[in-house]
Amino acid sequence: MFCPECGSMLRPKDKGGKRILQCSCGFTKALGKEDHAELTEKLAKGKKIEVIENVETHPKIKATCGKCGHKIAYYWTQQTRGADEPETRFFKCTECSYTWREYS
Ligand SMILES: [Zn+2]
Ligand SMILES: [Zn+2]
Repeated sequence: MFCPECGSMLRPKDKGGKRILQCSCGFTKALGKEDHAELTEKLAKGKKIEVIENVETHPKIKATCGKCGHKIAYYWTQQTRGADEPETRFFKCTECSYTWREYS
């Protein structure tokens, strides 16, 4: 943290029980709760981004669940072995999360 007045490094000091930053030119800055709140907010925002990345993005299609009989499932494909092998189709019930596969 540098002094906005002269550009020197600010030194932490205790003044009347409060933590402040003081410069050799006389400038002082209070180290209040505001700084702490700002940091906490930044950390909370970082967490939010993480959650968004984990959201299910597979398209939903009509497929009957073999476990609960629900008619809508998430659908995606995956190449399991070599490139000349047919890809495997995966289904995941939107109701009970039961997952099954189907070879084409
Ligand atoms: Zn200064
Ligand atoms: Zn199901």
